[in-house]
Amino acid sequence: MAAVSLLCLGLPLSLMAVGYDLGVRVGTVQAQEARVSAAEEAASARASELAQLSTQAKQQLEVMARKLALLQARVTRLDALGGHLTAIAGLDDGEFSFSTPPAFGGPLEAESETTVLPATFSDQLVALSHTLDDRDTQLNVLAGLLAEAELREEAMPSGRPIDGGWLSSDYGYRTDPFTGKRAWHAGVDFAGKAGSAINAVASGVVSWSGERAGYGNLVEVAHGDGLVTRYGHNEENLVQVGELVRKGQPIALMGNSGRSTGPHVHFEVYKHGRPVDPSSYVQRNIR
Ligand SMILES: [Zn+2]
Repeated sequence: MAAVSLLCLGLPLSLMAVGYDLGVRVGTVQAQEARVSAAEEAASARASELAQLSTQAKQQLEVMARKLALLQARVTRLDALGGHLTAIAGLDDGEFSFSTPPAFGGPLEAESETTVLPATFSDQLVALSHTLDDRDTQLNVLAGLLAEAELREEAMPSGRPIDGGWLSSDYGYRTDPFTGKRAWHAGVDFAGKAGSAINAVASGVVSWSGERAGYGNLVEVAHGDGLVTRYGHNEENLVQVGELVRKGQPIALMGNSGRSTGPHVHFEVYKHGRPVDPSSYVQRNIR
């Protein structure tokens, strides 16, 4: 009986145990399911996150590709400018090359839909960087040469030493206004208003400023390359010996000093120590 009652007691107990065990198992499965579903959700979130990142990266790459295309277009414009300057300066003998096509070909279409692979992209950046270095060097050398040419141009006598006035006596033999005899005139005379400005016809260094026999008040400017200009009969000299003067700078005021019959500037040009006819310099076109 005891066994029966034990059995009777044991059965529900064991049933309970089985029930409990089942409950635990079910709970475990549910928990596992929940974990799996959570993991699935996480994975899906990660996937959409990755997709988003990929889209962003693609967009950024497209933006950079557009920027690269714009930079390449700017290099093309710089090349056109460099080529133009080279031609203007008369230096287009092959020393400069602004037309060498970039190694990666022409600029990308700004609106191009083609996917740019990062490797290609970085190759293009490297090539562009090399092109820019090369153009930078070439443009600097060209700028130096142009500045040198401009300095030479500025030191080359051209134009008249006065703004108004008129040519009153040519270079060469003429009747001397004092003696009435035939005499050599080593310069040209420009007459005008007393006290008006006399300008240097080129940049240079003042090599004489003061009285000189026959010239009255004289300013002499040395321009280099054996070229010297003289401006005589001044009312007043405005520069000192050793002073650097620019082309067009007032260096004296027109006067009647020395061997002169009225206000004018006696203008002479010397080449390697010999007076030459200034008219070709006077008529020389200033750019
Ligand atoms: Zn004269």
